[in-house]
Amino acid sequence: MLDGKVALVTGGTRGIGLATARALAEAGATVVLTGRDEAKAKEAAAAAGAASGLALDVTDAKAVSTLVRGVAKEHGKLDIVVANAGIMEDALLGMIREELVDTTLSTNVAGTLHTVQAAARAMMRKKTGAIVVLASIVGEHGSAGQTVYAASKAAVANIARSAAKELGRSGIRVNAVAPGVIDTDLTSGLTEDAKAENIGKTPLGRLGTPEDVANAIRFLVSDDASFITGQVLGIDGGLVL
Ligand code: NAD
Repeated sequence: MLDGKVALVTGGTRGIGLATARALAEAGATVVLTGRDEAKAKEAAAAAGAASGLALDVTDAKAVSTLVRGVAKEHGKLDIVVANAGIMEDALLGMIREELVDTTLSTNVAGTLHTVQAAARAMMRKKTGAIVVLASIVGEHGSAGQTVYAASKAAVANIARSAAKELGRSGIRVNAVAPGVIDTDLTSGLTEDAKAENIGKTPLGRLGTPEDVANAIRFLVSDDASFITGQVLGIDGGLVL
């Protein structure tokens, strides 16, 4: 399905990023995954069957640009980029600290933007490519106690919608996935009661797995999705917030 394609996945050391790197590698792509910690990135790359694991903090625009250019140079091209790196910290409105705003927006919004910008530059030369960014169901609907995170993910969805409009004529597709509640380290702080409540509101009756999201991303970056761009695809078991 992805034979001969070169792919980059940010935040690929665990959770959805790791499952995505593995899914793309299993589909035949040459995958480079990144993580903030080089040793962890290398370990994850070996576990996922990826070609390499590199250190990258997506809040650093210059580092993102340099790394993406380097990957494209080393492999001769870059076909697929998944801007997955992200953080989530809950806080009720009255409890939101400035530091939480800064870290959330610099990682989720600016980090995604840096990655999409660098990907677009690398893909522009060949006039082909597919980018997927990680939005969220709460970015589409809002969520009490998650105002900052929800705002950041609404921005991520609109990075996909806007970049898709700008890059379509260059043969580059940009889509977002909007997962519901996926069982990863990010959601490990949820109490059993909160998990049960979410499952109760989910028609498919379970939490999502990283593989549920990875499979949808693999489809969106494949040629099977060649006429799909600017979309925000819910992967949430039908969850109604
Ligand atoms: P996770 O916490 O397991 O993994 C996140 C990854 O991003 C980690 O590898 C982490 O090291 C990396 N990361 C964080 N900040 C970074 C930075 N500044 N630079 C580089 N890497 C950084 O989370 P996950 O559940 O796998 O989430 C992956 C993405 O999916 C995130 O963007 C998250 O917001 C989104 N998402 C997750 C869920 C869910 O329920 N788990 C739901 C909706 C959206």
